[in-house]
Amino acid sequence: MPELPEVEVVRRGLERGVAGRTIERVEVHHARAVRRHTAGADDFTALLQGRAVLGAQRRGKYLWLPLDSGDALTGHLGMSGQLLVQPPEAPDQTHLRLRFTFTDGGRELRFVDQRTFGGLAVVAGGADLPGTIEHIARDPLDPLFDDEAFVAGLRRRHSGVKRALLDQTLVSGIGNIYADEALWRARLHGGRPTEAVTRPKARELLGHVRDVLGESLQQGGTSFDALYVSTEGVSGLFQRSLNTYGREGEPCGRCGAPIRREAFMGRSSYSCPRCQPRPRAPR
Ligand SMILES: [Zn+2]
Repeated sequence: MPELPEVEVVRRGLERGVAGRTIERVEVHHARAVRRHTAGADDFTALLQGRAVLGAQRRGKYLWLPLDSGDALTGHLGMSGQLLVQPPEAPDQTHLRLRFTFTDGGRELRFVDQRTFGGLAVVAGGADLPGTIEHIARDPLDPLFDDEAFVAGLRRRHSGVKRALLDQTLVSGIGNIYADEALWRARLHGGRPTEAVTRPKARELLGHVRDVLGESLQQGGTSFDALYVSTEGVSGLFQRSLNTYGREGEPCGRCGAPIRREAFMGRSSYSCPRCQPRPRAPR
C-alpha cells in the first residue's frame, strides 16, 4: 500500500499535471471507484464538471485537489490505485475506473485501480482540509508537525511502538514498510511497549522515520509490487534500499544475522533478531 513518499510523488505529479486547469468532463467507468461519494456517480460528476483545480494537497496518505467551488476532490489509492496524467491518445488502461478531461484539450487525469480498494470522492467545503481527513495527524515531513507532542503522545499510547507508528491519529503517512525500516535503524523491536521507550529514544526514532521517508522520496518511493507508479507511470527505486522489509532470511546489513519475519496485525513484520531483541512481553 502506498505510504507517504509514494503519495507525495503522486501529489507532486498532480500539481504539475492538473493544477490550474478546468475539468471539462468526468467519466465513471466503475461505480466502485466513487463508492465513498455517497450521493452517487451522477452527483460526483456534476460537482466536478466546469470546476477549476487550484492545487494538489496531501496529509499522510490522503490526497486532495482543492476546487474553485470550495469543495475538494479527495483520493485514496488503496492497495493498487494509480492516478495517471496521460495524453488523450494514450490507449485506455485495462483497469481504467475514472477519466477526467480538461477544457484545454490537453492531458487527461485517469484513475486506474486493479483491486478497486482505492477511490475518489467530492467533499463539500473541503478545499482547505476535507472533513473526512480532519482526524488524520500531521506527518513528520509537515513543517507544522510537533515533535514533542509526538514523543509525549507515543509514550502515553500503552501499545507496541510499531502499532503506535501505524496509528494515523498519532502520526500519519507511515505504513508497514517505513515502520519496519525506521525501527531497524533505531534498533527497536516493534513490540516494545511505548512507555518503555525513553524520550531520547523516541526522538531518535522520529529522526529515523524522517530520514527513511525523505530518502525514499528522493528515490521516487517504493514500488514493491509494481502497482505503485508516479503520475507519469514511473516506478520508484527505494525497494533496492530496504534493510528489513520483505528480506526474510537475508543477512542484516549491520550484524549479518538473518532477518526474521513475524506475524503482525494480519500482515508481517521484518526485523533483525540480534539488533532488535524481542521484549519479554511484546505488544
Ligand atoms: Zn542486525
